[in-house]
Amino acid sequence: MAEPPLESGDRIDEFPRSASPVSHPGLVQVEEARRRIAAIVKATPLVPSPGLSRHAGVPVRLKGESLQETGSFKVRGAANALLSLDPEQAAVGVVAASSGNHGKAVAHVARLLGVPATVCVSARVPRHKVEAIEGLAAKVVVAGPDQDDADAEARRLARQGLTLIHPFDDPEVIAGQGTIGLEILEAFPECTVMVVPLSGGGLVSGIAAAAKGVAPGIAVYGVSQERGPAMHASLEAGRLVEVVEEDTLADALAGGLGQDNRHTFEMCRELLSGTVLVSEGEIAHAMAYLDDEHGWRAEGGGAVGVAALLEGRIPLDGPTAVVVSGGNVGDDTFRRALEAARRDG
Ligand SMILES: *Cc1c(COP(=O)(O)O)cnc(C)c1O
Repeated sequence: MAEPPLESGDRIDEFPRSASPVSHPGLVQVEEARRRIAAIVKATPLVPSPGLSRHAGVPVRLKGESLQETGSFKVRGAANALLSLDPEQAAVGVVAASSGNHGKAVAHVARLLGVPATVCVSARVPRHKVEAIEGLAAKVVVAGPDQDDADAEARRLARQGLTLIHPFDDPEVIAGQGTIGLEILEAFPECTVMVVPLSGGGLVSGIAAAAKGVAPGIAVYGVSQERGPAMHASLEAGRLVEVVEEDTLADALAGGLGQDNRHTFEMCRELLSGTVLVSEGEIAHAMAYLDDEHGWRAEGGGAVGVAALLEGRIPLDGPTAVVVSGGNVGDDTFRRALEAARRDG
């Protein structure tokens, strides 16, 4: 989608065209984020999974970000970004474009801090997620059918003065998500493999930067849905590529990378051991597995890591942590996924 031309007064940092190398967040920034967000964010449980451990032949533990405040890890990055605003930016307010969980997280943190928030969503975002954001006192703008339309609207509002809180390609957001990596390694220092849901890559980039800063030998894998895996396709092509956005049970993972990605593509290219894909049926099966074995209600995007393990799609050479990234799923979708999984066996 074409961006309008720059006008005087536009914030140039929204349109990076500089040839100088970009510096990415690392362990130091993640440790700072951890101190900054401690009062807002839960340290979530890391629970052993006897069934997955037997299945995989290595000890497996699950990181329960579905139990996080607002129902997903996104509150970590949102808290770090909003707590990094200067007083003037905080007074004017923030804008986010979101497939749901990021918008909810930004609205939640903004309300806690007294910062005005506007959230732009696509018409694809489930109604229960829109209502959750409105319930948090943020203004919601529905802009067009796809995530790209929501992005364009957020950028337009940012040009009018609001501070854009990007869902993944923002150093503060990445550093906030990376705090999960520190929590995992503290509780599970013998961990050699981390398996992480992947969309725009803020979550997996932050976790990998933190974990490799502490334990350089650790292997980190990203898992995406087969339907529209933008980062996986971009890594394979060696450049940013657009994918057709499709409906998926993993709605939190839908959406493209945009054309001006500064951090997550390079970070994923440097830090990941690989990316794998899972099908809709495999995602539904993993949701049912988490419900049966752990009593956890995971959304589709939250369950893709477990799906990859159940399918044996990742080479595991030692103790493994799997991030279950979110639990925000409507009752109908959840029930239909469980029914489909049980029907297929
Ligand atoms: C946003 C989100 C992801 C993906 O995070 P990225 O930083 O975009 O890779 C995974 N799971 C859930 C539940 C999410 O909300």
